[in-house]
Amino acid sequence: MKQEIEAYNNVLELIGNTPLIKLQKATNSLQGNFYAKVEAFNPGHSSKDRIALYILEQAEKKGIIKPGDTIIETTSGNTGFSIAMVSIIKGYDCILAVSSKSSPDKIDMLRAMGAKVYVCPANVSADDPRSYYEVAKRLHEEIKGSVYINQYFNELNIDAHYHSTGPEIWNQTNGQITHLVACSGTGGTISGTARFLKEQNPNIKILGVDAFGSVLKHYHENREFDKNEIYPYRIEGLGKNLIPAATDFDAIDQFMKVTDEAAAHSARELAKTEGMFVGYTSGAAMQAAKQYAEEGFFDETSNVVVMLPDHGSRYMSKIYNDEWMNNQGFYDSVHEEDPKKIEY
Ligand code: PMP
Repeated sequence: MKQEIEAYNNVLELIGNTPLIKLQKATNSLQGNFYAKVEAFNPGHSSKDRIALYILEQAEKKGIIKPGDTIIETTSGNTGFSIAMVSIIKGYDCILAVSSKSSPDKIDMLRAMGAKVYVCPANVSADDPRSYYEVAKRLHEEIKGSVYINQYFNELNIDAHYHSTGPEIWNQTNGQITHLVACSGTGGTISGTARFLKEQNPNIKILGVDAFGSVLKHYHENREFDKNEIYPYRIEGLGKNLIPAATDFDAIDQFMKVTDEAAAHSARELAKTEGMFVGYTSGAAMQAAKQYAEEGFFDETSNVVVMLPDHGSRYMSKIYNDEWMNNQGFYDSVHEEDPKKIEY
Protein backbone atom coordinates (compact mmCIF):
# COMPACT_ATOMS: atom_id res chain seq x y z
CA MET A 1 0.00 0.00 0.00
CA LYS A 2 1.23 3.45 -0.88
CA GLN A 3 2.19 5.71 2.03
CA GLU A 4 0.53 9.13 2.15
CA ILE A 5 2.88 11.94 1.23
CA GLU A 6 3.10 14.38 4.11
CA ALA A 7 3.14 17.83 2.54
CA TYR A 8 1.56 21.19 3.06
CA ASN A 9 -0.55 22.49 0.21
CA ASN A 10 1.15 25.88 0.26
CA VAL A 11 3.18 28.17 2.54
CA LEU A 12 0.07 29.79 4.02
CA GLU A 13 -0.70 26.61 5.94
CA LEU A 14 2.44 27.30 7.96
CA ILE A 15 1.28 30.68 9.24
CA GLY A 16 0.88 30.83 13.02
CA ASN A 17 1.43 28.09 15.60
CA THR A 18 4.90 29.51 16.17
CA PRO A 19 6.92 27.90 18.94
CA LEU A 20 7.28 29.09 22.50
CA ILE A 21 10.91 28.63 23.53
CA LYS A 22 12.19 28.88 27.10
CA LEU A 23 14.89 31.48 27.49
CA GLN A 24 17.90 30.25 29.40
CA LYS A 25 21.11 32.27 29.51
CA ALA A 26 19.63 35.60 28.39
CA THR A 27 17.41 35.77 31.46
CA ASN A 28 19.18 33.66 34.09
CA SER A 29 20.03 36.70 36.21
CA LEU A 30 16.36 37.75 36.32
CA GLN A 31 13.56 36.60 38.62
CA GLY A 32 10.89 34.54 36.86
CA ASN A 33 10.56 32.15 33.94
CA PHE A 34 10.85 33.68 30.49
CA TYR A 35 9.52 32.23 27.24
CA ALA A 36 10.03 33.65 23.76
CA LYS A 37 7.22 33.46 21.19
CA VAL A 38 9.36 33.33 18.08
CA GLU A 39 7.40 34.81 15.19
CA ALA A 40 10.30 34.36 12.76
CA PHE A 41 9.02 30.78 12.37
CA ASN A 42 6.17 32.10 10.22
CA PRO A 43 6.84 31.45 6.50
CA GLY A 44 7.25 35.19 5.84
CA HIS A 45 9.50 35.37 8.92
CA SER A 46 7.32 37.73 10.96
CA SER A 47 4.09 38.12 12.91
CA LYS A 48 2.69 40.15 10.01
CA ASP A 49 1.86 36.94 8.13
CA ARG A 50 -0.98 36.51 10.57
CA ILE A 51 -2.65 39.82 9.78
CA ALA A 52 -2.10 39.56 6.02
CA LEU A 53 -3.79 36.15 5.91
CA TYR A 54 -6.58 37.03 8.34
CA ILE A 55 -7.51 40.36 6.76
CA LEU A 56 -7.62 38.93 3.24
CA GLU A 57 -9.62 35.89 4.34
CA GLN A 58 -12.14 38.12 6.11
CA ALA A 59 -12.48 40.25 2.98
CA GLU A 60 -13.04 37.06 0.97
CA LYS A 61 -15.69 35.80 3.40
CA LYS A 62 -17.54 39.12 3.21
CA GLY A 63 -17.37 38.97 -0.59
CA ILE A 64 -15.32 42.18 -0.77
CA ILE A 65 -12.56 40.58 -2.86
CA LYS A 66 -12.07 37.69 -5.22
CA PRO A 67 -8.94 36.32 -6.92
CA GLY A 68 -7.67 38.74 -9.54
CA ASP A 69 -8.50 41.78 -7.41
CA THR A 70 -5.87 44.15 -6.08
CA ILE A 71 -4.52 44.54 -2.56
CA ILE A 72 -2.88 47.85 -1.62
CA GLU A 73 -0.71 48.79 1.36
CA THR A 74 1.86 51.41 2.26
CA THR A 75 4.82 49.61 3.79
CA SER A 76 8.15 48.26 2.69
CA GLY A 77 8.42 46.35 5.96
CA ASN A 78 7.17 43.02 7.17
CA THR A 79 3.51 43.71 6.39
CA GLY A 80 4.33 44.41 2.75
CA PHE A 81 6.24 41.16 2.45
CA SER A 82 3.45 39.16 4.10
CA ILE A 83 0.73 40.69 1.92
CA ALA A 84 2.82 39.96 -1.19
CA MET A 85 3.28 36.36 -0.07
CA VAL A 86 -0.41 35.79 0.68
CA SER A 87 -1.38 37.50 -2.60
CA ILE A 88 0.82 35.16 -4.65
CA ILE A 89 -0.87 32.07 -3.26
CA LYS A 90 -4.39 33.47 -3.36
CA GLY A 91 -4.08 35.05 -6.79
CA TYR A 92 -4.30 38.75 -5.96
CA ASP A 93 -2.34 41.62 -7.45
CA CYS A 94 -0.33 43.31 -4.73
CA ILE A 95 0.57 46.99 -4.92
CA LEU A 96 2.85 48.51 -2.30
CA ALA A 97 3.43 52.26 -2.16
CA VAL A 98 6.66 52.76 -0.26
CA SER A 99 8.90 55.64 0.71
CA SER A 100 12.09 56.33 -1.23
CA LYS A 101 13.86 55.94 2.14
CA SER A 102 13.24 52.16 1.92
CA SER A 103 16.45 50.26 1.25
CA PRO A 104 16.92 48.83 -2.29
CA ASP A 105 17.17 45.37 -0.70
CA LYS A 106 13.70 45.67 0.77
CA ILE A 107 12.22 46.89 -2.51
CA ASP A 108 13.91 44.02 -4.39
CA MET A 109 12.53 41.55 -1.85
CA LEU A 110 8.97 42.81 -2.38
CA ARG A 111 9.36 42.68 -6.17
CA ALA A 112 10.77 39.14 -5.86
CA MET A 113 7.50 38.22 -4.14
CA GLY A 114 5.56 39.53 -7.13
CA ALA A 115 4.49 42.90 -5.70
CA LYS A 116 4.20 46.00 -7.85
CA VAL A 117 6.15 48.63 -5.90
CA TYR A 118 5.60 52.38 -6.26
CA VAL A 119 8.56 54.23 -4.80
CA CYS A 120 7.29 57.63 -3.58
CA PRO A 121 9.39 60.61 -2.47
CA ALA A 122 10.16 60.58 1.26
CA ASN A 123 10.70 64.33 1.54
CA VAL A 124 7.08 65.44 0.94
CA SER A 125 4.31 65.89 3.53
CA ALA A 126 1.75 63.12 4.11
CA ASP A 127 -0.98 65.11 2.31
CA ASP A 128 1.17 65.79 -0.77
CA PRO A 129 -0.31 63.90 -3.77
CA ARG A 130 3.13 62.29 -4.31
CA SER A 131 3.36 60.85 -0.77
CA TYR A 132 2.95 57.11 -0.38
CA TYR A 133 -0.24 57.60 1.65
CA GLU A 134 -1.82 59.69 -1.09
CA VAL A 135 -0.58 57.40 -3.88
CA ALA A 136 -2.11 54.39 -2.09
CA LYS A 137 -5.40 56.24 -1.54
CA ARG A 138 -5.55 57.33 -5.18
CA LEU A 139 -4.80 53.82 -6.48
CA HIS A 140 -7.46 52.43 -4.15
CA GLU A 141 -10.02 54.88 -5.57
CA GLU A 142 -8.99 54.22 -9.16
CA ILE A 143 -8.74 50.42 -9.10
CA LYS A 144 -12.16 48.79 -8.93
CA GLY A 145 -12.36 45.93 -6.44
CA SER A 146 -9.18 46.94 -4.65
CA VAL A 147 -8.69 46.62 -0.91
CA TYR A 148 -6.55 49.04 1.11
CA ILE A 149 -5.26 47.20 4.19
CA ASN A 150 -4.28 50.35 6.14
CA GLN A 151 -2.88 48.34 9.08
CA TYR A 152 -2.65 51.25 11.55
CA PHE A 153 -6.38 51.95 11.29
CA ASN A 154 -7.76 48.50 10.63
CA GLU A 155 -9.54 46.78 13.56
CA LEU A 156 -9.06 43.44 11.82
CA ASN A 157 -5.37 43.78 12.68
CA ILE A 158 -6.38 43.37 16.35
CA ASP A 159 -8.82 40.55 15.54
CA ALA A 160 -6.10 38.58 13.72
CA HIS A 161 -4.09 38.31 16.93
CA TYR A 162 -7.20 37.81 19.08
CA HIS A 163 -7.97 34.69 17.05
CA SER A 164 -4.43 33.29 16.67
CA THR A 165 -1.61 34.66 18.84
CA GLY A 166 -3.73 34.94 22.00
CA PRO A 167 -5.13 31.37 21.96
CA GLU A 168 -1.73 29.93 21.00
CA ILE A 169 0.00 31.55 23.99
CA TRP A 170 -2.81 30.56 26.35
CA ASN A 171 -2.64 26.93 25.20
CA GLN A 172 1.15 26.73 25.02
CA THR A 173 1.44 27.93 28.62
CA ASN A 174 -1.52 25.81 29.77
CA GLY A 175 -3.04 29.01 31.08
CA GLN A 176 -0.06 29.67 33.32
CA ILE A 177 1.14 32.87 31.64
CA THR A 178 1.31 35.75 34.14
CA HIS A 179 2.82 38.52 31.97
CA LEU A 180 3.02 39.32 28.26
CA VAL A 181 5.79 41.62 27.02
CA ALA A 182 5.09 42.88 23.49
CA CYS A 183 6.14 45.72 21.21
CA SER A 184 3.57 48.18 19.98
CA GLY A 185 3.71 49.61 16.47
CA THR A 186 0.26 49.44 14.93
CA GLY A 187 -0.70 47.90 18.28
CA GLY A 188 -2.40 44.93 16.63
CA THR A 189 -0.23 42.26 18.23
CA ILE A 190 -0.37 43.50 21.80
CA SER A 191 -4.04 44.53 21.70
CA GLY A 192 -5.47 41.39 20.13
CA THR A 193 -3.34 39.06 22.24
CA ALA A 194 -4.16 41.06 25.39
CA ARG A 195 -7.91 41.01 24.75
CA PHE A 196 -7.89 37.24 24.42
CA LEU A 197 -5.63 36.60 27.42
CA LYS A 198 -7.52 39.00 29.71
CA GLU A 199 -10.78 37.27 28.82
CA GLN A 200 -9.24 34.01 30.06
CA ASN A 201 -7.65 35.56 33.14
CA PRO A 202 -7.98 39.28 33.89
CA ASN A 203 -4.95 39.12 36.23
CA ILE A 204 -2.53 38.58 33.35
CA LYS A 205 -0.42 41.74 33.04
CA ILE A 206 0.09 43.17 29.58
CA LEU A 207 3.39 45.01 29.41
CA GLY A 208 3.97 47.14 26.32
CA VAL A 209 7.23 48.21 24.74
CA ASP A 210 7.65 51.68 23.23
CA ALA A 211 10.55 53.65 21.75
CA PHE A 212 12.05 56.92 22.93
CA GLY A 213 10.79 59.32 20.27
CA SER A 214 7.30 57.77 20.15
CA VAL A 215 4.00 59.05 21.58
CA LEU A 216 2.45 55.76 22.74
CA LYS A 217 3.61 55.60 26.39
CA HIS A 218 2.63 59.21 27.08
CA TYR A 219 -0.74 58.71 25.41
CA HIS A 220 -1.37 55.57 27.45
CA GLU A 221 -0.69 57.40 30.70
CA ASN A 222 -2.37 60.71 29.92
CA ARG A 223 -4.77 60.06 27.03
CA GLU A 224 -3.22 63.08 25.42
CA PHE A 225 -1.22 63.37 22.21
CA ASP A 226 2.03 65.18 22.96
CA LYS A 227 4.00 66.11 19.88
CA ASN A 228 7.00 67.01 22.06
CA GLU A 229 7.50 63.27 22.58
CA ILE A 230 8.29 62.87 18.88
CA TYR A 231 11.88 62.78 17.60
CA PRO A 232 13.78 60.53 15.20
CA TYR A 233 14.92 57.10 16.35
CA ARG A 234 16.33 54.05 14.65
CA ILE A 235 14.20 51.03 15.64
CA GLU A 236 11.78 50.27 12.81
CA GLY A 237 8.30 48.95 13.57
CA LEU A 238 8.21 50.04 17.22
CA GLY A 239 6.36 53.08 18.54
CA LYS A 240 4.61 55.72 16.46
CA ASN A 241 4.22 59.46 15.82
CA LEU A 242 0.42 59.19 15.75
CA ILE A 243 -2.23 57.33 17.74
CA PRO A 244 -3.12 54.17 15.81
CA ALA A 245 -6.75 53.05 15.86
CA ALA A 246 -5.44 49.47 15.89
CA THR A 247 -4.22 49.95 19.47
CA ASP A 248 -6.55 49.16 22.37
CA PHE A 249 -4.89 51.23 25.09
CA ASP A 250 -7.32 49.93 27.73
CA ALA A 251 -6.07 46.37 27.23
CA ILE A 252 -2.46 47.38 28.02
CA ASP A 253 -1.40 47.78 31.66
CA GLN A 254 1.90 49.56 31.25
CA PHE A 255 4.44 50.81 28.72
CA MET A 256 8.23 50.79 28.98
CA LYS A 257 10.52 52.74 26.64
CA VAL A 258 13.80 51.32 25.41
CA THR A 259 16.73 53.04 23.71
CA ASP A 260 17.99 52.21 20.22
CA GLU A 261 21.31 51.21 21.70
CA ALA A 262 20.06 48.87 24.43
CA ALA A 263 17.61 47.20 22.03
CA ALA A 264 20.39 46.58 19.48
CA HIS A 265 22.59 44.96 22.12
CA SER A 266 19.75 42.86 23.47
CA ALA A 267 19.03 41.51 19.97
CA ARG A 268 22.68 40.58 19.49
CA GLU A 269 22.66 38.97 22.92
CA LEU A 270 19.70 36.74 21.95
CA ALA A 271 21.72 35.42 19.00
CA LYS A 272 24.84 34.85 21.11
CA THR A 273 23.16 33.31 24.14
CA GLU A 274 20.05 31.55 22.83
CA GLY A 275 20.88 30.96 19.16
CA MET A 276 17.88 33.10 18.22
CA PHE A 277 18.68 35.27 15.21
CA VAL A 278 15.90 37.82 15.55
CA GLY A 279 15.14 41.40 14.56
CA TYR A 280 15.62 44.81 16.13
CA THR A 281 12.22 44.93 17.85
CA SER A 282 12.84 41.48 19.31
CA GLY A 283 15.86 43.05 20.98
CA ALA A 284 13.60 45.89 22.14
CA ALA A 285 11.13 43.41 23.68
CA MET A 286 13.94 41.53 25.41
CA GLN A 287 15.44 44.78 26.68
CA ALA A 288 12.04 45.88 28.03
CA ALA A 289 11.61 42.51 29.77
CA LYS A 290 14.93 43.13 31.56
CA GLN A 291 13.87 46.65 32.55
CA TYR A 292 10.51 45.41 33.83
CA ALA A 293 12.41 42.76 35.83
CA GLU A 294 14.72 45.42 37.28
CA GLU A 295 11.69 47.43 38.34
CA GLY A 296 10.36 44.45 40.29
CA PHE A 297 7.45 43.45 38.06
CA PHE A 298 8.28 39.73 38.31
CA ASP A 299 8.98 37.17 41.04
CA GLU A 300 10.07 33.54 40.88
CA THR A 301 6.51 32.38 40.14
CA SER A 302 6.11 34.63 37.09
CA ASN A 303 5.73 33.09 33.64
CA VAL A 304 6.63 35.86 31.25
CA VAL A 305 6.02 35.50 27.51
CA VAL A 306 8.12 37.83 25.37
CA MET A 307 6.97 38.33 21.77
CA LEU A 308 9.85 38.32 19.26
CA PRO A 309 8.25 39.76 16.08
CA ASP A 310 10.65 38.98 13.23
CA HIS A 311 13.87 37.45 11.90
CA GLY A 312 17.39 38.89 12.08
CA SER A 313 18.16 38.52 8.37
CA ARG A 314 16.34 41.81 7.65
CA TYR A 315 18.85 43.73 9.77
CA MET A 316 22.17 42.60 8.29
CA SER A 317 23.13 46.14 7.30
CA LYS A 318 22.06 47.50 10.70
CA ILE A 319 22.29 45.90 14.13
CA TYR A 320 24.23 42.88 12.86
CA ASN A 321 26.77 45.06 11.08
CA ASP A 322 29.68 46.18 13.26
CA GLU A 323 30.35 49.25 11.15
CA TRP A 324 26.74 50.41 11.49
CA MET A 325 26.89 49.82 15.24
CA ASN A 326 30.11 51.84 15.39
CA ASN A 327 28.66 54.65 13.30
CA GLN A 328 25.72 54.95 15.70
CA GLY A 329 28.17 55.14 18.60
CA PHE A 330 26.73 51.89 19.97
CA TYR A 331 29.80 49.81 19.80
CA ASP A 332 32.85 51.76 20.92
CA SER A 333 35.06 49.99 18.39
CA VAL A 334 34.44 46.71 20.16
CA HIS A 335 34.86 43.66 17.93
CA GLU A 336 34.63 39.94 18.31
CA GLU A 337 38.41 39.75 18.89
CA ASP A 338 37.87 41.65 22.10
CA PRO A 339 35.01 39.75 23.72
CA LYS A 340 35.85 41.04 27.21
CA LYS A 341 34.38 44.38 26.36
CA ILE A 342 30.99 43.03 25.31
CA GLU A 343 29.04 41.55 28.13
CA TYR A 344 26.72 39.12 26.39
N1 PMP B 1 8.24 44.57 15.19
C1 PMP B 1 8.34 44.76 13.88
C2 PMP B 1 9.62 44.41 13.19
C3 PMP B 1 7.28 45.30 13.16
O1 PMP B 1 7.38 45.51 11.84
C4 PMP B 1 6.09 45.65 13.86
C5 PMP B 1 4.95 46.24 13.11
N2 PMP B 1 5.00 47.60 12.85
C6 PMP B 1 6.03 45.44 15.25
C7 PMP B 1 7.12 44.88 15.87
C8 PMP B 1 4.86 45.82 16.09
O2 PMP B 1 3.75 45.01 15.88
P1 PMP B 1 2.32 45.65 15.82
O3 PMP B 1 2.25 46.49 14.57
O4 PMP B 1 1.38 44.50 15.78
O5 PMP B 1 2.13 46.51 17.01
